Amino acid sequence: MTERTFSIIKPDATRRNLTGAVNAVIEAAGLRIVAQRRVKLTEAQAKKFYEVHAERPFYGELVAQMTAEPVVVQVLQGDNAVAKYREVMGATNPANADEGTIRKQFALSIGENSVHGSDSLENAGIEIAQFFTEEEIVG
Ligand code: ATP
Ligand code: MG
Repeated sequence: MTERTFSIIKPDATRRNLTGAVNAVIEAAGLRIVAQRRVKLTEAQAKKFYEVHAERPFYGELVAQMTAEPVVVQVLQGDNAVAKYREVMGATNPANADEGTIRKQFALSIGENSVHGSDSLENAGIEIAQFFTEEEIVG
């Protein structure tokens, strides 16, 4: 089934000029980038985006890291896009990520792990709507 998922290229990756390298892996996996914008997240945006982790000990560090440098927010489209992109990203901790995944190749640590991807189709819809209007998504 064709799905859309939400992707963020995180500050650790944009800082190291890895936007194109990350997107090359995404496109090689057959996912199509159908919306894209470079933006510096405000603290309020980052807090809201990662609200589910508000009680976790790393929340403050996560918000600080996500607002430190620009990010690239994007919508990916393709067959089973949500699960496929999670596969392409690799495990949250790069030490546990499979060969060839984005996090295995580029992530610095469990916190600075280069990319975000929605964890369900429902959350994908919610996250996409936080950053893009329907008119900005062109498949
Ligand atoms: P994301 O939601 O960013 O796609 P994920 O779904 O693989 O990543 P989550 O459990 O949702 O992982 O954690 C969200 C983000 O919080 C992680 O990507 C990482 O940047 C950060 N994080 C998670 N666990 C830790 C930790 N133990 N220490 C520091 N940062 C962490
Ligand atoms: Mg997550």
